[in-house]
Amino acid sequence: MKKIIEKAVETHSLSRDELIALLTDKDYTDELLQAADAVRKKYVGDEIHLRGLIEFSNYCKNNCLYCGLRRDNKELERYRIDIPTILTLAEHAKNMGLKTVVLQSGEDMHFTTERMVEIIKGIKALGLALTLSIGEKSLEEYAAYRQAGADRFLIRIETTDKKLYEDNDPGMSWEARAQCMRDLKKLGFELGSGCLVGLPNQTTESLADDILFFKEMSCDMIGIGPFIPHPKTPLKDAKGGMLDLSLKVMALTRLILPEINIPATTAMETLAPNGQARALCGGANVIMPNITMTDYRKHYQLYPGKTTTGYTPDESLERVIKKIESLGRTVGKDCGQSKKWLREQQSK
Ligand code: SAH
Ligand code: SF4
Repeated sequence: MKKIIEKAVETHSLSRDELIALLTDKDYTDELLQAADAVRKKYVGDEIHLRGLIEFSNYCKNNCLYCGLRRDNKELERYRIDIPTILTLAEHAKNMGLKTVVLQSGEDMHFTTERMVEIIKGIKALGLALTLSIGEKSLEEYAAYRQAGADRFLIRIETTDKKLYEDNDPGMSWEARAQCMRDLKKLGFELGSGCLVGLPNQTTESLADDILFFKEMSCDMIGIGPFIPHPKTPLKDAKGGMLDLSLKVMALTRLILPEINIPATTAMETLAPNGQARALCGGANVIMPNITMTDYRKHYQLYPGKTTTGYTPDESLERVIKKIESLGRTVGKDCGQSKKWLREQQSK
């Protein structure tokens, strides 16, 4: 195992079998996380970049089996934040010193291209970097967002196991999702993706494939989240929740893609109070404080127990900054573009 880890640190390249060996092993987790931490330090430094997350609508037309926002969850109280309020939240983010805002929602048809363009232009006028995470759209829609000024787009592939994907995302096609990623990259977005870890019937082999896929698709940001069963979904009785395995997938992603941005995800913190701290010491360099109004947070229930529920935007930011300082790291001073994306732009 030590040899494979050393190879990854030196070459940033591992075979599928080597990835599987490290993912299966239980004895070298600490060594793997430490190696990813060193590679993170060497390539992207000690700064942790903050992204202010606005969960602006929990309406969704899709029915992903794992997700609490799925359309068949009739018990969820649905909300949409109106455009002026979204812009006020973004302005508050700017006043708090944040440099990037992430707009996330279910696939909500109310937010037409025209409405999204209005929001994007409003946020860009504040001088903030903007990430969208609003699901699958046509090339034309993505192009309109890009033209309006959106910088980044986050769309997880969830899993590269096509059958597992299509079993869990009824009515959706894996190929269509991968095409969205290609379209976004072609349009010049910084491309974020990632996967869930711990879905029922997910194999270690497919997790190794996920990591190789992130490289193949030239992703600029990768978020890895443990799957956490939601009581109002068909997967309510699933086992889910595998923090160590999620951290290992994340650490291996850092080793293979040394210059990208990797968030310490909220789902990791939900499984253990030190989940995000462990992630930040195992390859992660980004954290996304929630800046949605407190009243709405409890309804943006992708999974239960989200640790950001109940706090105000200011409290969320304060908690995150304390965590960063307690680890001896610093808050990023600029908008924290992916080093990989910047290098690609320069060589164009
Ligand atoms: N609707 C958009 C964005 C919101 S969902 C989309 O699907 O792309 C954001 C992410 O939440 C999803 O990509 C998924 O990986 C994650 N998620 C959903 N349900 C989850 C659960 N039960 N546990 C952990 N993460 C979950
Ligand atoms: Fe909708 Fe995204 Fe949840 Fe799927 S994961 S149901 S697309 S919010």
